[in-house]
Amino acid sequence: MASPSTDHHRAAVLALAGTSGSLSRTEIAQRLGLSPATVTQVTKELISHGLLEELASAPSRGGRPAQLLGLAGSPKRALGVKVAPDRLAISDVELDGTVRDLSVHDFDPASADALGHLTDTLAAVIDGIDGDGSSILGIGLGVPGGVHDPAEGVVNADILGWRGLPLGRRLRTSLELPVLVDNDVNALAAADCLYGRGRHHRDFLIVTIGAGIGAAIVTSDVVYRGAHGDAGELGHTPVDPHGPECVCGNRGCLEAIIGDRALVSAAHREGVLTAVDTISDLHTAADQGDPTARAILRNAGEILGRSVAGLVNIVDPETVAIYGEGTTAWQHWRPGFEPALRAHLPALRNHIPVEIDRSDDQTWTQGAAALIMSTPFDTTGAAREQGEQIRARLTSTHSGHQDNTHGRPEPVA
Ligand SMILES: [Zn+2]
Repeated sequence: MASPSTDHHRAAVLALAGTSGSLSRTEIAQRLGLSPATVTQVTKELISHGLLEELASAPSRGGRPAQLLGLAGSPKRALGVKVAPDRLAISDVELDGTVRDLSVHDFDPASADALGHLTDTLAAVIDGIDGDGSSILGIGLGVPGGVHDPAEGVVNADILGWRGLPLGRRLRTSLELPVLVDNDVNALAAADCLYGRGRHHRDFLIVTIGAGIGAAIVTSDVVYRGAHGDAGELGHTPVDPHGPECVCGNRGCLEAIIGDRALVSAAHREGVLTAVDTISDLHTAADQGDPTARAILRNAGEILGRSVAGLVNIVDPETVAIYGEGTTAWQHWRPGFEPALRAHLPALRNHIPVEIDRSDDQTWTQGAAALIMSTPFDTTGAAREQGEQIRARLTSTHSGHQDNTHGRPEPVA
């Protein structure tokens, strides 16, 4: 049995590797204030448990090159679940963020037994992985709505018809695994912190375009949640007091003007589309050179550019990433977006990079799983007892009823 101080050191080293990417033993010792001997011992244990791995050596000035260490893939994994109005996407994500076995299931969130169906689907997936779920650290769910507290997991999502649904507690009780639930864009940001931009940036913005318009704000390596978990609701910033009605009940919100539904309505008004056409038909019309379709998307880009400029001026990020299904038509948004964004930023900051990222079920489920994966690296303790359980499952070689069936070395006590 490891001593509590060793467990603490293991968690601290994993946290550092999880948030900083690759680093040498010397850097670990300096940043955690540990002795070189302790770091050597702890990293040896973590490597033998398959949680850390030795990467390429870093060049050094004089002396021999420093061996870099980073998080490794391991038999421990998390389930990532994207809950959408028409489907569930579920994947099995390894510790280093590798997505395995993505599956997509029909889902009707408004049906009487939606939660039972979700539970049964997850139980079948867990059964397919290892029977007793012992290699699973926990289940992360990303939902298109508000979640006050990921550890509680009470969901308010108009688009799913869910009001005050205690999703986290119900799943935890039925499946006997740690469960964390968050807004899906916050979940994307959690994945970016662990596996993407977070390795190079401490402050960045994520904006999503598509059916909804969303944002996540990462400041000092942490996803900013606000007082009620509702930070980043970019889609409901007011744009036009005389604009169309929004799903939130107000008028002229950004999402009511440049969300998919609003763009399709605009296309109907302008005679580009008929009543049965969809957003992908609008994209196709623009691709084929229809000037009205292109003008609608360029105008949406311009409005988005102004809104993002406002957010950049408030938050001062190093970079902006745009995700969401709407990015498939980015070439039509960009001519409006770029000049509007740059024009509304001060000269010193108007070269801020804007990166367009793909969004598909793989990305969304990796994000949901990152809610679980980032918990052992969360020094704020926001996940409370769920976090303690996840950490225990991560640092224990024999989590649950597991025996050493994955060919990993025996624990170094
Ligand atoms: Zn609104």
